[in-house]
Amino acid sequence: MTTLHSLLTHADVPVLPAGTPDALAAESGYQLLCPHRPEATARPTTTGQVSAAVRAAVESGVPYSVINSGHGRRDSLDGGLLISLDGLRSASLDGRTVRVGGGTRWGDVVAQTASAGLAVPHGSAPGVGVVGYLLGGGYSIFARSLGLGINAVRSMTVVDGHGEIHRWDLAEIRELFADAWRERVDPGIVTEVTLEATSARPLTAGGFCVVGARVRELMQVFCGWAEELPEDATCSLGVMRRPSGPVVGHVRLTATGDRGPVMAVVDRLRSRFPVTEDDGFDIGWDDPGRIYREPASARPYVGDNLVSTSAPDLDAFWSALSGEDGGPVILDLRQIGGQTAHPDRDGLSAPGQWVTGLVAPTTDARQEVDAEGVTRLLAAAVPEALGSAENFTYGVGAGW
Ligand SMILES: Cc1cc2nc3c(=O)[nH]c(=O)nc-3n(C[C@H](O)[C@H](O)[C@H](O)COP(=O)(O)OP(=O)(O)OC[C@H]3O[C@@H](n4cnc5c(N)ncnc54)[C@H](O)[C@@H]3O)c2cc1C
Repeated sequence: MTTLHSLLTHADVPVLPAGTPDALAAESGYQLLCPHRPEATARPTTTGQVSAAVRAAVESGVPYSVINSGHGRRDSLDGGLLISLDGLRSASLDGRTVRVGGGTRWGDVVAQTASAGLAVPHGSAPGVGVVGYLLGGGYSIFARSLGLGINAVRSMTVVDGHGEIHRWDLAEIRELFADAWRERVDPGIVTEVTLEATSARPLTAGGFCVVGARVRELMQVFCGWAEELPEDATCSLGVMRRPSGPVVGHVRLTATGDRGPVMAVVDRLRSRFPVTEDDGFDIGWDDPGRIYREPASARPYVGDNLVSTSAPDLDAFWSALSGEDGGPVILDLRQIGGQTAHPDRDGLSAPGQWVTGLVAPTTDARQEVDAEGVTRLLAAAVPEALGSAENFTYGVGAGW
């Protein structure tokens, strides 16, 4: 124990005192399931300190793990060194280039780009870490018009498992991330990324809800309706069963082309249902969290997904989503395709038109989740799956 602590101290790597609120927050982050229980938590503020922290762990013979926001945390240290990236949280804009520290969240980037009239291919939750998202390719909520998040990356600075520092250029990134959507890249610790933003086109973005038994009909017609959308529009359907109260369906959409045609298609769906919480589809580039309305506070959850070209049979989920037994379950259906499947120029792609995901909020006791039941349900709804998108697979440890 002394060895790890004294090596960190000797190398001037900041360490979070055990038991303090900052240390406890770093041990789980957003995913509360099975938190890390490290011997020490380092909070480096430079690439050099990340390198020194890795060397200290290697020299002490202890395992180490890295955490940013914790949204995609999959491991749980018992002893060893936890490296929190919170000290590398920064975003600065120079023209269209955004220089992003390894602990930056998408919300930090959007705070710089939106006011400058620029767009970046971020996901649905502003609290998600930029690097963690990119390691799985990055399915943007603008998937069909902006393509995979990884295509915005121009360079990366990485500390490998020996503490050596590398800088990857565009060609190396394109080669390493070619299959990232189904096999997350494990590069070492990314301490800095440069992104190239694009001009922000006029945005149509927002959603509405349908509540109760009519959600079943919404699920039955949703994919057919989505096929009428123009290619610059990307939609999604979230359906949530809650422990008390009726099931809720949330239609979400972003579009970067003319508003008229896309709103005509939106109105065909909206006018069919008694809708609630209609936000008018006028959310701007500066407020990404309002589109999907995902919770910002930490929680325990597991989840899985299947990617497909043909539309899933969402009716297969109805009994699970409407049943009164069991805990809450969320269906998270995301439309992809467009620039994600067929990017302009030589960008990276991911196949399919749909990602069908199920998320089960849970407690620390994994046994309470019927993981096999979820896998069976997904397989029944998506018989011709192309694989799973790793970014939307949630849970700590093996067995999910
Ligand atoms: C509410 C919610 C919404 C989401 N929306 C989307 C979405 O729209 N599109 C999408 O594609 N995905 C989405 N995701 C999935 C998300 O992209 C992944 O879970 C991602 O791994 C989270 O990264 P993080 O840094 O926030 O989380 P963390 O749990 O901190 O990190 C996840 C993994 O990445 C590693 N990592 C993080 N930063 C670094 C770094 N700098 N260097 C090396 N390794 C690092 C960590 O070690 C860990 O293994 C969502 C997840 C949630 C919970």
